[in-house]
Amino acid sequence: MKKIFFIFVLMVASFSLTAGEVIFFNGTFIEQAFGYPSTAKGEPVAAERKVSDKALRISLPPASWAGFVLAVPETDISGMRKNGTVDFWIKGNTGNEKNLSVMLIDSIEDKEPFHTQVFLSDYLTMSKEWQYVIIPLADFLDDGFYWSMEKNARVNGKMDWGKIQSLSFDISPSETTETVIFVDGVKISEQGGTTKIVDKYAEFEKKYAYEGEYKSPIIKGNKNFKWPKKIKAAVSLTHDDAYQSCITNALPLLEKYKLHGTFFMSGFNWYQPANIEGWKEVFEAGNEIGNHTTYHPCDRAMGFMQNGFASQDYTLGRIAAEIESVSNEMGKYGFRPSRGYSFAYPCGQTTVGENKKSYIPVIEKNFIAARTVEYGTADPKTVQLSQVPAYSGAEMTIEKMIGIIKEAEDTGGWVVLYFHGIGADSMPVDIKKYEALLKYLADNKETIWTGTFGEVAEQIVKSRGKK
Ligand SMILES: [Zn+2]
Repeated sequence: MKKIFFIFVLMVASFSLTAGEVIFFNGTFIEQAFGYPSTAKGEPVAAERKVSDKALRISLPPASWAGFVLAVPETDISGMRKNGTVDFWIKGNTGNEKNLSVMLIDSIEDKEPFHTQVFLSDYLTMSKEWQYVIIPLADFLDDGFYWSMEKNARVNGKMDWGKIQSLSFDISPSETTETVIFVDGVKISEQGGTTKIVDKYAEFEKKYAYEGEYKSPIIKGNKNFKWPKKIKAAVSLTHDDAYQSCITNALPLLEKYKLHGTFFMSGFNWYQPANIEGWKEVFEAGNEIGNHTTYHPCDRAMGFMQNGFASQDYTLGRIAAEIESVSNEMGKYGFRPSRGYSFAYPCGQTTVGENKKSYIPVIEKNFIAARTVEYGTADPKTVQLSQVPAYSGAEMTIEKMIGIIKEAEDTGGWVVLYFHGIGADSMPVDIKKYEALLKYLADNKETIWTGTFGEVAEQIVKSRGKK
């Protein structure tokens, strides 16, 4: 999954203040103020003022991480860490503004401006009316991050609360139109309190609540699994994380060999105006579009997760809400097949929370089938469709892949292969190898059924139903 973060440059103030109250905006900018990317703008306007003689009008472009940064001289707020708050007035232009966050950023003097972020939706529902927001400083994590242009990587590290230098209002790339907000009286103070909304995932939490250990039901099917016609084995080609090379490289090859695959969407990029036409083309060619979450939560131990987005940071309710929003997004473009969506677990992980609670119940309720990255060929008689095993195609030789498929013909198995980039992008499979696989499948289509992941799952469900 790709995420675009930003780096910003501003002149460094050469002195440090100790806080009682840190004002970031009170009708005028305190120090530099700037937007990123450059199309993000902020200007004081008298027409919408609340507590100052001018409010700050911020407009943020869609489809990328964007924000407006308010800088102050470096200030030590470590003494306010426990009881202090970030507080300000805010109103939306339409009242439907979503995906907004507030970041605190420490000194850039050491070239490591660590950011720590909270989401505004935890504190208010935006409206066209002015609302007062109080965010406890304690809600901001000590774990910060910044995007290093040099390393082209995200760098994690501890926030320096002794040197806070800016505050920004930010939007995530899931917005497809420009976002306009007004803020006023933006400060850090010692007033205490919070406007936190009580658990926004409560309804999802309730829907999927279960006690104790989760046990997925083992489905016992027919003794002799019969694929339709002369088919001896099924193969599903799956492609994760919505890489561009799936559209540019995989699609033409699938077309050439008259085969269909499954594409599991994650991140924000796939439904941006620049990309959605390509995915529509993939879908209209007979391929399946599946759900792979938005933020792709994986174990914190893997080291690449953004703070607050590791699988440990999720609850059952939060993962359910995120999964539902991706399905809704796919539904908007008509990607929903009558059998329902398929799912692929990010990093193959099936749990959320520090105590590793299974979210398989959420998947069983919402999807016809789900793919893990557990190594193996599925036995259609007994496989739990919520946990279908698969092989990493990029890591195998073509001989090995064909060997596994031939084996499946002997046992009536279902071989699911997963890929990421196709000849490009992340973890790419060699394109010649990918084409050789497709050619083999096309040449053997009498006995090997290459079906989308959902199609094959549907066939298994039907066969089991018949008994
Ligand atoms: Zn993935």
